[in-house]
Amino acid sequence: RRDVGRITTGSKNVDELIGGGIETQSITEVFGEFGSGKSQISHELAVTVQLPKERGGLEGECVFIDTENTFRPERIEQIADACGIDREEALQRIHIARAFNSSHQILMAEKINELIQSGVNVRLVIVDSLMAHFRAEYVGRESLATRQQKLNQHLHALQQIANTYNVAVFLTNQVQARPDAFFGSPTKAIGGHVLGHASTYRIWLKKGLAGKRIARLVDSPHLPEGEAVFKVTTDGIVD
Ligand code: ADP
Repeated sequence: RRDVGRITTGSKNVDELIGGGIETQSITEVFGEFGSGKSQISHELAVTVQLPKERGGLEGECVFIDTENTFRPERIEQIADACGIDREEALQRIHIARAFNSSHQILMAEKINELIQSGVNVRLVIVDSLMAHFRAEYVGRESLATRQQKLNQHLHALQQIANTYNVAVFLTNQVQARPDAFFGSPTKAIGGHVLGHASTYRIWLKKGLAGKRIARLVDSPHLPEGEAVFKVTTDGIVD
């Protein structure tokens, strides 16, 4: 693949785990229970993508598809301060798309093509969270096939944007904590098969002791499985 770019997560440990930061032309999925840090990493990446290359960014802009009203401008301001970039400029380079339901979410993703064609230098698309609307709207066994078909359509659109415009796609996915978490098969826990195949990188987040978080890379085709420890601080994500 040509010119793959990488965006720092803010944590050197996590960057190393995934081969140097989240990749363009790929889909990276983070999953974990409520409060495990998924939205925090999303906010961090929305800022770090704007940094120059030597600091782990792509000098680019971000589309943030927000499905659960988790986007916090004041959090972006804190992270921008820590990165030494202007708050207002940082916010202007984040294009917020609030998705009211799954159809709207699908449409928002497809519209990114137009935004890029209009000249906006989008290098990162975040969907926080991917499955919330789909889960709420398609309840019960009989609707599972439709849900997976819609989800598939959505993921294909995201992958197409990633490939066509050399963009990184970052998805968050909430899962229930399980007693065998980290040792069982993660694929059973989430989004079914469609998601399992679409994500190039899948990272399992878990709360550790003393405010620490643990990231575990799972199902990676060409990187070893492993874990990295990081923290969420006022300044953002750090080792
Ligand atoms: P989720 O995985 O549900 O998206 P979040 O990414 O929202 O979880 O993580 C929430 C956690 O992040 C909080 O419980 C807190 O520990 C931490 N956090 C959020 N904001 C800050 C902050 N400004 N300073 C330090 N820690 C924070």
